[in-house]
Amino acid sequence: MKTHINDYILKIKPYLPGKPMEELEREYGIARSIKLASNENPLGPAPKALAAIEKSLSRLNRYPDGSCYDLIHTLSQRLNTSHQQIVLGNGSDEIITMLSKLLLSPGCEAIIPQPSFLIYDIAVRCCGATSVYVPLKGFSICLKDIERRISSKTRMIFLCNPNNPTGTIIRKSDFDDFLAAVPPGVVIVIDEAYVEFVRDPQCLSGIDYLDSGKNIVVLRTFSKVYGLAGLRIGYGVMPEQLAELVNRIRLPFNVNSLGQVAAMAALEDKEFFEKTLRLVHGELDFLYASLDKAGVDYFPSQTNFFLIDVRKNADEVYEQLLRHGVIVRSMASYGYPEYIRVTVGLHEENVRFIRALEKVMS
Ligand code: PMP
Repeated sequence: MKTHINDYILKIKPYLPGKPMEELEREYGIARSIKLASNENPLGPAPKALAAIEKSLSRLNRYPDGSCYDLIHTLSQRLNTSHQQIVLGNGSDEIITMLSKLLLSPGCEAIIPQPSFLIYDIAVRCCGATSVYVPLKGFSICLKDIERRISSKTRMIFLCNPNNPTGTIIRKSDFDDFLAAVPPGVVIVIDEAYVEFVRDPQCLSGIDYLDSGKNIVVLRTFSKVYGLAGLRIGYGVMPEQLAELVNRIRLPFNVNSLGQVAAMAALEDKEFFEKTLRLVHGELDFLYASLDKAGVDYFPSQTNFFLIDVRKNADEVYEQLLRHGVIVRSMASYGYPEYIRVTVGLHEENVRFIRALEKVMS
């Protein structure tokens, strides 16, 4: 096929999402598989969100509110920001791609910790810009190392806090010095997709720095703790001038109407939020204790997923777990060839995972 596609697009490696359960069941003829691969909420969607969706189904013939007025209003009150600082996206993925489109072009650089969320690199490459990778130090993002890589070409810095796939946090105490060293024109994107799960009080909250006078963007999502991954809804909080520019390139109806009403209702569902945190924290502790007992090494996390050191080829362990009907993520493509990443599931799913892992490891 003859095309005129830019070389920088041809070099993008496709993003491989966690394997869907239907695909595993189709390919392996397995029933009752479990998916612990995409950091989703195992309890399902927030019940108040489901009720709100049902109520608004009959209005699906209408376009959504393109300005997302009600949801932005609710979020701005909760976060104590102005309405104009918030942009909603088709998942926070879309905010990442819109910001990259806005800020990057060939010759520009974006700094990305490595390994971290793979979409940052894809978004940067889509713009023909260069990703400058800064390796983690002992599984954590090192702000000093990032600072050293800032150049006159740097336009964006991605910080994933807590980091996916390692589950480590950035400490408030490290962030202040870093912020002072970042030149004013550089946009710092703090991706807080998992911040609600954090138990460590030292963790940086990007929201506290929105008034710092620096170009800080905080990303949050309804896909994790609120259980709405399938509806695709996330948001960015940023300086008003930046938000106004992102809104110029945002498609008019990027967030669907069910997503908007569900997100509003999920914010009110305190009971579900707390139930989710109780489950994730309790089950993380259960999984750690089970792995300790089995003599398997792991890296404790501040999120709803964590890394396990399988001490052999992670792709093979992933394949063998599939045969037991358990979907996890091999970390080989993230640069950790002997680690798998596991998302916390329901108690019975976690028990099944531990049993399967013990069989595969023995
Ligand atoms: N950031 C991180 C760190 C993530 O892990 C994910 C989801 N995998 C996202 C952003 C994207 O979330 P959303 O579903 O809102 O697009």
